[in-house]
Amino acid sequence: MNTEPRNCDLCQLPIEVPGYELKTVSGVKQFCCEGCQGIWQMLHEDEILKEEPS
Ligand SMILES: [Zn+2]
Repeated sequence: MNTEPRNCDLCQLPIEVPGYELKTVSGVKQFCCEGCQGIWQMLHEDEILKEEPS
């Protein structure tokens, strides 16, 4: 499995708690915290893919 550590796509800090993710037109973005996820979401609202209802 690929468990390579990632850095936050907003602040570039290492991600210690996984799960803050957004699916976007350029791939899945990962963040270190809810705050970074929220800021990125505001800045790139039109790049975020909506979850398909299952
Ligand atoms: Zn961050």
